[in-house]
Amino acid sequence: MKYVLVTGGVVSGLGKGVTASSIGVVLKACGLRVTSIKIDPYLNTDAGTMSPFEHGEVFVLDDGGEVDLDLGNYERFLDVRLTRDNNITTGKIYQSVLEQERRGDYLGKTVQVVPHITEAIKNWIESVSHIPVDGKEGPADVCVIELGGTVGDIESMPFIEALRQLLFSVGQNNFCLIHVSLIPVLGVVGEQKTKPTQHSVRELRALGLTPHFLACRSAEPLLENTRQKLSQFCHVPVGNILNIHDVPNIWHIPLLLRSQNAHNAILMHLDLQSVANPPNLQEWTDRAETFDNLTNSVRIAMVGKYVGMADSYLSVVKALLHACIACSLKPAIDWIAASDLEDDNALSTPEAHATAWRTLTNAACVLVPGGFGDRGVKGMVLAAKYARENRVPYLGICLGMQISVIEFARNVLGMERANSSEFDKDTPNPVVIFMPEGSKTHMGSTMRLGSRRTLFQSPDCLTAKLYHNSEHVDERHRHRYEVNPEMVINFEESGLKFVGKDETGKRMEILELTDHPFYVGAQFHPEFKSRPGRPSPLFLGFILAAIGQLGSYLQNPHNGNL
Ligand code: GLN
Repeated sequence: MKYVLVTGGVVSGLGKGVTASSIGVVLKACGLRVTSIKIDPYLNTDAGTMSPFEHGEVFVLDDGGEVDLDLGNYERFLDVRLTRDNNITTGKIYQSVLEQERRGDYLGKTVQVVPHITEAIKNWIESVSHIPVDGKEGPADVCVIELGGTVGDIESMPFIEALRQLLFSVGQNNFCLIHVSLIPVLGVVGEQKTKPTQHSVRELRALGLTPHFLACRSAEPLLENTRQKLSQFCHVPVGNILNIHDVPNIWHIPLLLRSQNAHNAILMHLDLQSVANPPNLQEWTDRAETFDNLTNSVRIAMVGKYVGMADSYLSVVKALLHACIACSLKPAIDWIAASDLEDDNALSTPEAHATAWRTLTNAACVLVPGGFGDRGVKGMVLAAKYARENRVPYLGICLGMQISVIEFARNVLGMERANSSEFDKDTPNPVVIFMPEGSKTHMGSTMRLGSRRTLFQSPDCLTAKLYHNSEHVDERHRHRYEVNPEMVINFEESGLKFVGKDETGKRMEILELTDHPFYVGAQFHPEFKSRPGRPSPLFLGFILAAIGQLGSYLQNPHNGNL
């Protein structure tokens, strides 16, 4: 196994994840098989309990792992399926060491950060890197490891030490360290400053790791003398100083790395030249250029709770992007804080209320994404009602599907107080209820997580056609509540059809409204499996409906760009 470690210095938010995944893309384009590990030095055992407000979306894997959103980047860029163990946190490492300690595995010894925690980290990395993630047998050739946070953080120390030991044991030819850093420019015509990078490299070297490559983030391309300075003061050959300057879209980054010959330098360092081919990045080139030249856009209203931070719905945004590109469109996402739509706010914050409604009614389609808790639910119900009554394409994901069920019950079936038992324990019409897969009284995790199968109830429904007429589909879930199976008949009689159900037939997975151009709800999260070049069928259908091309696409799904 060859390891490529990506660390970060100076500041967070440099796009270390995108840099690391792009390095993976370039190596993959050379014919190598690539896997990846993300290390998050925080204490949480996983991202499941972290607020999307603070940390961005919780990404969900096939095996039900709730992980950092960077794993989504790796899955999308490398087109792989990762496991929960590909995300290492301090919490997970300590948990495993403490479990061993309780079992008596340390035979009375003092359990310490060095060597026990570091040993556990090393073992974890070595075993996870061998899990195949690309559908082929046997381990990958290269494992890209991204160390979260910035070098020097107290929390990342044990990881740095473990990685230093790993480098020492596997040898320089099997381990390549790329340090991502920032080259700021001060003043309007100021010079490119190398000092922060020098300091962070010095910090890394004090911890026993010398970077083999620098990946410098900058607004403009690096000047030759900046490169020379960096090389001299950071102890990195000039040819190994990569520059990721600002580009119009992230698909340019693998191309940028290739144009700087990063692949050759990395392959040479890792002694992989004899097994690699010249990189084939045709698809990436086409996509990057297509996107730059798109002129038409489609307005999408995103009615959610966490609209202050775009990363809270990162995979939904990416899935919209994939679908839009397939239709030669740029997505224009209008974020609407659901609570701004609510009637109460017409008095308390009339401007925000008016703006929210203007934005909603100007959009070509409405998306209500997943979420937890009752904030904004009233506003989401209003958005679903608006889309249903005005025949505006609607896509409800997880909570968004539950919202459309609540709305329909209240406004079509006349059940005024219909609700989800998540929001109103005493509702007389619990149309969405708690339906754990295990025991209702059993303590512990009650969330339905990861990949589950949905069976289409009839080949004639819109979504089965969008899913290429398959009989079933496996998508990822993350929810506790579900449509009350006892009330399904009431909905279906009035035209809200549950066209996808789980294998038992008790869990409603997909709904469609008859007599509407596109009104679809999914209990699962289709966004997690959307890929550039292979958009999620539900997102594609949603965008096609927004531009009035769904009918012609369904008649001939293989025409044009699609
Ligand atoms: N809060 C809802 C549930 O638990 C929806 C979850 C979601 O949208 N991910 O069922």
